[in-house]
Amino acid sequence: GSVLGIVGGGQLGRMSAIAAARLGYRAHILTTEADGPAAQVAHAITLGRYDDHDALRRFADAVDVITFEFENISADGLDLLSSIRPVHPAGHILRISQDRIAEKMFMAENDIPVAPWRGVHDRADLDRAAKDLGYPFILKTTRLGYDGKGQARIHDASGLDAAFDGLRPHPLVAEGMVRFACEVSVMVARNAHGEVVTFDVTENRHRNGILDISLAPARIAPELAARAQDLARRIATALDLTGLLGVEMFVDRDGSLRVNEIAPRPHNSGHWTMDACPVDQFGMHVRAVTGLPLPPASRHSDAVMKNLIGPEDMALWPEIMAAPRLLAHHYGKAEARPGRKMGHVNVLFPKGALPGEFGVEAALGPLARALDDA
Ligand code: ATP
Ligand code: MG
Ligand code: MG
Repeated sequence: GSVLGIVGGGQLGRMSAIAAARLGYRAHILTTEADGPAAQVAHAITLGRYDDHDALRRFADAVDVITFEFENISADGLDLLSSIRPVHPAGHILRISQDRIAEKMFMAENDIPVAPWRGVHDRADLDRAAKDLGYPFILKTTRLGYDGKGQARIHDASGLDAAFDGLRPHPLVAEGMVRFACEVSVMVARNAHGEVVTFDVTENRHRNGILDISLAPARIAPELAARAQDLARRIATALDLTGLLGVEMFVDRDGSLRVNEIAPRPHNSGHWTMDACPVDQFGMHVRAVTGLPLPPASRHSDAVMKNLIGPEDMALWPEIMAAPRLLAHHYGKAEARPGRKMGHVNVLFPKGALPGEFGVEAALGPLARALDDA
């Protein structure tokens, strides 16, 4: 049999299912959204909540190997799935990536640099963290944050109470603010035979806490890029990863790298690979979790990726469709709520010809307008 089970029905599940189909696998999606992005392109097993163990069991019985795009399945649910079928990446990796403190402790054990941090369990901890880290610093929930939700920047002592009260009762972590030159990420894949490949380093720009634009390759020194890839490779190996993992990093102004967080699944900042690489992150992911050898993560073009977010960007969809340079990807979401990721576009350039600021804008055609008010 060759059925890939994917937990989670969003756009990452959709694009993974399409990559699976290309390789001759069927995909079964476990999802709470009967007509969501992934359910539209593959067989869906729907459930009301991800802790419905009967549904988890039915799903696991129907597939050969399980992966996920939804990261917040409970430890119990994971154990259940793992008792029935192989789950890749394995549960111990998900448990680390689900919890920012577990993640930072893992990095420390493996000599991977991160921003200075303090666990915050009560209000007194927060005062101590402020003293140790200095202002400004960032307070984050340890779990369930995404797109910058579940965090607050604290600029001085007058902001402590509001940040604390706004994020409680969840467990929290305080992080020193990294004064970064830029943000980068690396997609790394590893299979059960220990083969590891890394895609070229991506440079990422956020807007309102949400990834807006990625550039590949990142405009950083080759030596720095090699170090970023080496960090990603070391993380994948130390985790004993089978699958694909996105590693977000800050490039400090002093030239050092600090890992921000990891995501053991295809990553938004890797979407440029869909058009600029012979085997993209989703194909690599499917190959890794199904035990196939990994081809080189090579890149034939430079690329700019822009996310299509909310109703403003989607209002431009007809113009995007009419612009042949824009390689567009639609996620099939019915409703374009503000801040929601609805799709993305890639624009390709010959290798070495990634343009500067104005060129990027010009290449994005109708979407350049959306950049203006950034
Ligand atoms: P994602 O959607 O990437 O999962 P998230 O909600 O998990 O986002 P983070 O990635 O931790 O949150 O933070 C969001 C953004 O906030 C980062 O990409 C970065 O721009 C900024 N940021 C987070 N932590 C720090 C830090 N310690 N120093 C400086 N900037 C930071
Ligand atoms: Mg995150
Ligand atoms: Mg992040």
